[in-house]
Amino acid sequence: MGDILNSKLLSILPLLLYLGAEKPAFLSIRGYISFIKADQAMWYRACKACNKKVTESTGAGYWCESCQKYDEECNLRYIMVVKVTDASGKAFVSTFNEEAEKIIGCPADELDSLRSQEGEDSPYQLKLKQATWTPHLLRVSVSQNEYNNEKRQRITARAVVPVDVSGSCGPLLFQGDVAASHCNAFSNRLYNFKGKGDKDPLGSTYAAFLKTKCKSLSDTTTTVAMDPGSAGNFDSHYYPNLLQKKGLFQSDATLLTQDQSRSIAEELVDQSKFFTDFAQSMQGMGAIKNLVGSAGEIWIKCSVVNS
Ligand SMILES: [Zn+2]
Repeated sequence: MGDILNSKLLSILPLLLYLGAEKPAFLSIRGYISFIKADQAMWYRACKACNKKVTESTGAGYWCESCQKYDEECNLRYIMVVKVTDASGKAFVSTFNEEAEKIIGCPADELDSLRSQEGEDSPYQLKLKQATWTPHLLRVSVSQNEYNNEKRQRITARAVVPVDVSGSCGPLLFQGDVAASHCNAFSNRLYNFKGKGDKDPLGSTYAAFLKTKCKSLSDTTTTVAMDPGSAGNFDSHYYPNLLQKKGLFQSDATLLTQDQSRSIAEELVDQSKFFTDFAQSMQGMGAIKNLVGSAGEIWIKCSVVNS
């Protein structure tokens, strides 16, 4: 996924209203499926040949307008709306068959047959319960449509991947603040920077603080907020912290060592400048296409070139 990833992305969706005005913008959201609308039809009857909606006609099976023919059978395909929640907010996301199947964990035909069994603890309710509050990485498109002369944002899931919550990844530069990181993503800076038991020359007060959190190189479970004093908010707080030598990752601290990146960091202390630049970089990253063949490669670990 070549687009921006933030665990607090949903709070800025209102800022991005202009995105998707001409063509859809793509972004990745890391969040939880917090609610599945089960009160409405979660699937439709689809033509087995073209997946378009069919109508039931008495005695004759199902009519597909698109194929202009009848079939005795049809498929059920999901079309459902889920609420996605991250650390900062929530959004309703439309999902189609493939993505919905990954969220629910079974095909629509199977869920439909479960639904006929009633009761509070029915297998159908249980299936929905299991799918809720599970972390996912969702690649979504954001587009705009007009409804009753009102501009509305439409968010559609384009790919869904369950998240391995134990994994960690370095920050995307200039992205602002991601919630937290596991110690092992940066503890070499505290205990074994260049493989000689030394430490990174980062701010010593901050290093002392981090050592109280991450007690050894082998700590892989403790997490530390990446943006001290501002965790839970999406703001430009990352930059003043960075300038005070409180950048959590080596890749953050490195920003201060180059004149060009240092002056950008100094500019982005300004909140309004930060939001403007963020929206722009977001749009830019949304336009990045997947790299294929000799065009380049996707880094397996986002802070290091593939070896
Ligand atoms: Zn058809």
